[in-house]
Amino acid sequence: MIEEDWRVLTGQTSAALVPVEHGESFLVHKDVLSPWTDLVARALDVGFSLRIASAWRGFDRQQLIWNGKASGQRPVLDACGNPLDACSMSEDALLFAMLRWSAIPGCSRHHWGTDLDVFDAAAVAQDYSVQLTTAECTDCGPFAALHDWLDAVLREESAVFFRPYTADRGGIAPERWHLSCRPVAERYEKLLDEARLIDWIMAQDIALKDRIYVHWHDIFHRYVLVTPDSNA
Ligand SMILES: [Zn+2]
Repeated sequence: MIEEDWRVLTGQTSAALVPVEHGESFLVHKDVLSPWTDLVARALDVGFSLRIASAWRGFDRQQLIWNGKASGQRPVLDACGNPLDACSMSEDALLFAMLRWSAIPGCSRHHWGTDLDVFDAAAVAQDYSVQLTTAECTDCGPFAALHDWLDAVLREESAVFFRPYTADRGGIAPERWHLSCRPVAERYEKLLDEARLIDWIMAQDIALKDRIYVHWHDIFHRYVLVTPDSNA
């Protein structure tokens, strides 16, 4: 593996990124910009204002989120989205609660610039604060119609985007809002190396890393590797 690919994989470089402009500026992998722009245009044709809530996140940002949750400075949520009391939990219980909604720094698909959290700006008021919750994206939620439309688009044989977190496999919560640009993401998925990643994690300032080490095989296969279902 060339060193630059490893740096992209673990969120240590922004060299492969380009900005996406719409109001706020987000960064995506340079090879994702064109398929994303195409998808936005298609969505607009049918009345959806497809927007990014979160795109590239580097290691430093993920480290801030992760260590903040482990220390109780940021909320840790249960499977239903209710806050947990981090101080009263065992380290293992806390670790697996955090893994449901957050990636270990260095292990996030958002490091690659290939993955986007999306919403429909046409469905909400301009000052609406996007939460990225299941309730927003299903049933009567404001973004349910966008996602129902995306269901059909992502099922097309020529689909470029897919949802890596569709089904709940007892690991990461199903995230309907999280799209991944398959041809580019596949390049990085292939580089995920169980042994090299844990060696690297152990050399970083990452909270709970001793517990991550103990459970690494399970964590790697349940939370880091993604075997996508169909988008049905
Ligand atoms: Zn996401």
